[in-house]
Amino acid sequence: MNTPAETSVETLPVGSQGNMDAAASSGTRRFLDQSVNMFAHRFKCDACGLFLYDESNRTLTLRAAYGYPMFGKASIVLKAGEGLIGRCLAERRSIYTEMASTMRGYTRHHNFPDDDLQTFLGIPLLYGKERVGAIMLQRRTGVPFLAEEISAARLKAEELATRMQSANAMLLVENAEDLAAGAKPLILTEETTFKGSAASHGWAMGKVKILAETNVSGLMADKVTSYPPATRTLEEAIPIVEERFKNIAKTLDERLPEAASMIFESEIMMMHDDNFIGKMNRLVESGTPVTEAIVTISNEFINFFRKSATEYIREKAHDIEDLALRLLEAVTASPDSLDEDQASHVIIAEKLLPSDVLRIAQGHVLGIVLVAGGSTAHVTLLVRSLKIPMIILPERDILRLPEGENIVIDCANEKVIVHPSNATVKKFNERRLEEERERVTYKSDQKETYTQDGTRIRLNANINIISDINAAVDANAEGIGLYRTEFPFIMRQTVPSESDQKAIYARIMDRMPDKPIVFRTLDAGGDKVIPYLFGTTEDNPAMGLRSIRFTLKYPFILDQQLRALLRAIQEKRRADVSIMFPMISSAEEFDAGKEHIESCLESIIPEFEDREIIEPEVGLMIEIPSVLGVIDRLCETADFFSIGTNDFIQYMLAVDRSNPNVSNMYIPHHPAVLRGLKIIAAAAIRHDVPLSLCGEMGRDSRYIPFLIGIGLRSLSLEPTHIPAAQQLISRFTVEQCREHANTLLSLNYISEIEEAIDAFASSIFG
Ligand code: PEP
Ligand code: MG
Repeated sequence: MNTPAETSVETLPVGSQGNMDAAASSGTRRFLDQSVNMFAHRFKCDACGLFLYDESNRTLTLRAAYGYPMFGKASIVLKAGEGLIGRCLAERRSIYTEMASTMRGYTRHHNFPDDDLQTFLGIPLLYGKERVGAIMLQRRTGVPFLAEEISAARLKAEELATRMQSANAMLLVENAEDLAAGAKPLILTEETTFKGSAASHGWAMGKVKILAETNVSGLMADKVTSYPPATRTLEEAIPIVEERFKNIAKTLDERLPEAASMIFESEIMMMHDDNFIGKMNRLVESGTPVTEAIVTISNEFINFFRKSATEYIREKAHDIEDLALRLLEAVTASPDSLDEDQASHVIIAEKLLPSDVLRIAQGHVLGIVLVAGGSTAHVTLLVRSLKIPMIILPERDILRLPEGENIVIDCANEKVIVHPSNATVKKFNERRLEEERERVTYKSDQKETYTQDGTRIRLNANINIISDINAAVDANAEGIGLYRTEFPFIMRQTVPSESDQKAIYARIMDRMPDKPIVFRTLDAGGDKVIPYLFGTTEDNPAMGLRSIRFTLKYPFILDQQLRALLRAIQEKRRADVSIMFPMISSAEEFDAGKEHIESCLESIIPEFEDREIIEPEVGLMIEIPSVLGVIDRLCETADFFSIGTNDFIQYMLAVDRSNPNVSNMYIPHHPAVLRGLKIIAAAAIRHDVPLSLCGEMGRDSRYIPFLIGIGLRSLSLEPTHIPAAQQLISRFTVEQCREHANTLLSLNYISEIEEAIDAFASSIFG
């Protein structure tokens, strides 16, 4: 074995490990280095790393290290639970293995490239039950730690934990101060990869643009000095800006037609507001240069809005900033730079609001890197629908990258590559060419999907925004199995009017003229907050006033939506359009929803006297396990069911999959989930109620055979997943699926089910 003194790897001297913790005070820094050094020597390690934990963003950062040749090029940050060391802290227990790469959770970090360090001892550093960090001791493959050594290392780690806790606190304070002071840029001189989680699809390569919350006023301050003197008056500039807004709205119409008409509503209103423009004019009359007047008054408004306790008012600060910058460009006759500003950029965002996404959608942003915790479910869905690649990263460090740095985001491999090497750039350029070639040959896909024995499986599409329909048509979707009606709501700053809603629903019907469509009523709340609808946040929103509970409590919102939908159905003569209620938990709730449909239909009958009234089919989403208890009754009253597995699994297992502490327990193949699904399918078959499934489970190749095996003949997926599902389904027979489902349903342990799923996959795919 190599002792540290004679190690053959190029060991960096302790305490000189690059930019890792430039901010840390030398005392704290020295203590961490000494600790790691002590462990390395005392336990004869070939490599040793000390990680500290930050609860606020649930990351584990390598703070001191011994023996890693690559170390010093970038900080190493792991998500809670990531890798063996993350798992050891997440589970609050030591992990020892002599073959690390075979262990569950093992990930080979790009900055720990050495495959030969297979002997691994990870020890958590705990302060009471609080997680402080973890220490990782490694030896070369084949050189084990003795049992006494492991006990001694654990004792040493316990001794150290209290002092580590103080060191951790010091580092966190310094980091916070750094951020407040406008942290130092993160300069990377070599290709560095950050591991994240993909929130969308695809990949992008471009230049960094930072969208940090702190930018608003800073940006405005810069503009005063950087703008040339005005050559136009405000009066002359306003129609120019208005025209510009209209042009952008026109361009946006294809991508986001449901938002295009209102996207600049508030900006246009502000341009005619005496309190805003009037104040600027008064400053100009008293001798202030027009550029300065724009900045001064805009900043007054920005600061006022940003102080508001209400989120949607705070969002207005961005509108004002946008408007002010456009006014500045117009009065100084500068070429429009704002719209080109985001083109060919990858945005790195601290927080992403629906309004930011709309702004982004106007330009041609290539991709987004979002710092964890900065978004909601709706925003993620919106980004996905807009086909913008997006990766969520746990570390905030990425916000300190200098603008203009080259960056690649790769959703398939869930990584962000900063400062890519020439080889990487070449690889992605080649990928682009290959994808363009594939796109040309893509169109010949099959129109219907059959299992190997000829059973038809209908593949519908989940739609969030109107432009998703193009992708659905390209993928040969047989209809729309779920249109999430909340998107027009999140794109506005108030409830869309009944006529706006009707126009959107009619447009969707026009775009899908000959195939069935399921409209789901507003599913707001929980992790899909629409700020103007929810004044206060609830303590436990997943269990709170959400979805059908919300719309039944505020029936004017539900009725308005239902009338819009029913009118569009009559006008377009669409008997193949149906309505679905989300999050139904009882027979009463479904009955109440249906009563609303009946009374709304009644109220519009006079408008359609000359025609036969179309009564749409009404179904419900099965997302709450309580439905299992009343499924037979619901089979009598519902025209169809669609299983929303995303929520069904979360409520069945009481696991929020976006919570990193428990997300590993979100297991679609948990025996209780599988048996719950079987109960639903059996009831639907017994009562002859059409059944579909529109959660993400339906796009997962591991689960499709089971779902077909229990009797599902219709799935609704994001359009991009349809071609793969078509291919997969043609590879097996219904009988094989039935047998497979019966096997899974007979098992009580998750691990046994995993083995059976793997065995089925190898029997089919070899
Ligand atoms: C679901 O819960 O599975 C579902 C499709 O609804 P959403 O993802 O919109 O919550
Ligand atoms: Mg749901």
